[in-house]
Amino acid sequence: MEMDDHKRRRNMILYVLIAFALYLVLSQVLFPRLTTTQEITEVPYSTMLSDLDADKVDKMDYTAGTDNVALYTLKGDKEGTAYQTTVLPNSEDYLAQKIDESSAEVSVIIPSNDSGMWLYLLITLAPIIIFFLIGWWLNRKMKKAMGDDNPSMDFSSGFGGFGGGGGLGKSGARIVASKDVGVTFKDVAGQEEAKESLKEVVDFLEKPERYEAIGAKLPRGVLLVGPPGTGKTLIAKAVAGEAGVPFFSISGSEFVEMFVGRGAAKVRDLFKQAKEKAPCIVFIDEIDTIGKKRDGGGFSGNDEREQTLNQLLTEMDGFDNKKGIVVIAATNRPDSLDPALLRPGRFDRRVPMELPDLAGRKAILEIHAKDVKTQPPIDLTAIARATPGASGADLANIINEGALRAVRMGRSRATQEDFEESVEVVIAGQQRKSTVLSDHEKQVVAYHEIGHAIVAASQKEGAPVTKITIVPRTSGALGYTMQVEQDEKFLTTKQEVLDKLAVYCGGRAAEELIFGEMTTGAANDIEQATKLARNMITRFGMSEEFGMMALGTVQNAYLNQDTSLTCAPGTAERVDDAVQKVIFDAHARALQILRENKFKLHELARYLYKKETITGEEFMTLMKRENPYMPKPQQQ
Ligand code: ADP
Ligand code: MG
Ligand code: ZN
Repeated sequence: MEMDDHKRRRNMILYVLIAFALYLVLSQVLFPRLTTTQEITEVPYSTMLSDLDADKVDKMDYTAGTDNVALYTLKGDKEGTAYQTTVLPNSEDYLAQKIDESSAEVSVIIPSNDSGMWLYLLITLAPIIIFFLIGWWLNRKMKKAMGDDNPSMDFSSGFGGFGGGGGLGKSGARIVASKDVGVTFKDVAGQEEAKESLKEVVDFLEKPERYEAIGAKLPRGVLLVGPPGTGKTLIAKAVAGEAGVPFFSISGSEFVEMFVGRGAAKVRDLFKQAKEKAPCIVFIDEIDTIGKKRDGGGFSGNDEREQTLNQLLTEMDGFDNKKGIVVIAATNRPDSLDPALLRPGRFDRRVPMELPDLAGRKAILEIHAKDVKTQPPIDLTAIARATPGASGADLANIINEGALRAVRMGRSRATQEDFEESVEVVIAGQQRKSTVLSDHEKQVVAYHEIGHAIVAASQKEGAPVTKITIVPRTSGALGYTMQVEQDEKFLTTKQEVLDKLAVYCGGRAAEELIFGEMTTGAANDIEQATKLARNMITRFGMSEEFGMMALGTVQNAYLNQDTSLTCAPGTAERVDDAVQKVIFDAHARALQILRENKFKLHELARYLYKKETITGEEFMTLMKRENPYMPKPQQQ
C-alpha cells in the first residue's frame, strides 16, 4: 500500500513535468524564435543594416505583419546573444535586397490568423491545465496524508469543479487507518469492566467468521455512557487499535452545524465508506446531539435532526453485521436519548464509564506521569487521594499543569510539589495575584477558613484537613480549606452527612462569632449545604418526617446531578421546611463548636493571616498544642 502511494506520487510529479515540457515545445513550434537567445539587445535599424552590409549577420528571424520585428545573431558571437530591431515600415524591399547580398540565414515568419488563434488558446489554456494538474496532485497527496483513500475530501472540487467525484453529500467523516489510532487498552487506565465488555467486540472484529459459524450475533451498537472526561473517546479508539481495524469517527455536533439536508446524506455516506472498509469501527461521539428524544408536535424546528436520526436508524438496521461493522457511540446524557436508538439491534449494549475510584485515579496519574520527567520522590497516591470526583481528563490535566509549573519555575523535572499545586489549580483555578484584599477582608477570610477547619477537625470521623489557604484564586474563591479522605468512601452515614453540613456552615459561623456580621463569602458554602441537605431528604431518605420516600428524581446523572421534585406542591413546601431545619441545626452546631474553641480560632486565624497558606500538619499541631495562655476549660 505504501509502495502504491509512492508510485502514485512519482507519477503525479511526472505528469506535471510532462505538461510543462509539452507547453514549452508547443509554444516553440507555433512561435519559432531564435531559441538560444536569452539576452536580447535592442539596436537601431541602422545598426542592423550596417551589420548586414558588413556580412556579420549569422541568422535572422523576421516576423512580418504588424510588428515588423527582426531578431538576429552575429557570426562569432557567443551563444545566447541576439539583437532586435524594428524594421521601418515600407523598407522591406530594401531590406530584402540587403539580405540577398549578405550570406545571412533568414527565416520569415508570417503569422496567420489560424495560428494566432491556436497560440491564443494555448497560452490561455496551458496555465489552467498546469494549475489543474497541480491541484490534482496536491489532492492525491492530501489523501495520502489523511491516511487512506478518502474520496470525501475532494480538494480538486475547489479548483472550479474539475476533479471528479464532487463533494456534495460526502460525509467528511475523519478516517484514521488502524495503524494511526495509536491507542490500545494499555493506554486506558482503570475502567476494567468497560474493557472487559469491549474485549468481546475486539474479538469479533478480529475473527468475525467464528461468530458467524456458530450463528451468534454480536451487538451492532455499543453505547458508552459516563460523565465527561472519563475516557469514552479514548476507549473507542483503543478498541480499533486493539483489533487493528479502521476507525471512522464523527461527532454529533458536526451533524448539527451542517447545511439543511446534509446530515442524512452524511450518515449515508459514512456507512457506505464503512461497508467498503469492513471490518471497522464507526464512532459517533456526542450522539445525544442527534439522538435526542423525538417529540411529536410542538415546534418542529428540528426536522433536520430528525432526518439525520432516522437515517442513522435505517443504516444501523441495514448493514450486514457479518461483515464486522461495530458502531460505538458515546454520550453523557443517556436519559435524553430516543428510545428507538436503544432498541435491540441498535445500541443495545450499554457500557458505563464511571468516574475513577482511588485505584483508578492512581493508575491514570501513573499513565500520564510516564510521559513527564519527574524528580523523585513522587507520591501519586497522595495526589489520587486529594482528587476525589476528578475525571481522567482532570487527572491528565493535573499532570500536565504540574509539568508546566516546573517549566515556569525554570526546572527540568517536575516535583511532587508541582503536582500538588496543580491539583489546586485544576480544582480552584490559578492563584490570582492581582486581587488585593484589604486588611480587614483578609482577616475575615482567615477566620472564615479556620472556622471550616476547626469544625472539620472536631468531627470524629471527618476527613482530615490537608491544607488551608487564603490566597485568592482565579475561580473567584478567596480562600479554601482542603479536606482529603484517607480512603475511598462508597457509603456515607447520616451522621457524616450532618457533620459535613456543619463544616459547610463553619465559615459563616466564624464570621458571625468574631465580627458580628455576615459577608457574601459564604455563598458557595450555602449552595453546597442546601444541595446536600435537599438530597438528604428527597433522595437518601434521611429525614424522620418523610422516611424512605423518594421525593425527587435525578436529571442528568452524569452532568450536574440536578434533582427535580416529583412530589405534590404541598409536600414540596414541607421539604423546604425540612431542608431549612437541617441547615439551621447544622449552623447552630458549628457555632457551638467554634464558641467552645474560640481561643484556638483566634490563634489559628492569626497564624493563617500571617502565613496565607498552611499545611494540614501545621494546623493539627497548633490545634492540639497546649497553649499556656489558654484558659482551662473548668475556668470558663
Ligand atoms: P470523554 O470522551 O469521556 O469525554 P476522553 O476520552 O476525551 O473523555 O478523555 C480525555 C482525556 O482524558 C484522554 O485523552 C486521556 O488523556 C484522559 N483520560 C481519560 N480517561 C482516562 C483513562 N481511563 N486512562 C487514561 N487517560 C484517560
Ligand atoms: Mg469525548
Ligand atoms: Zn467557606
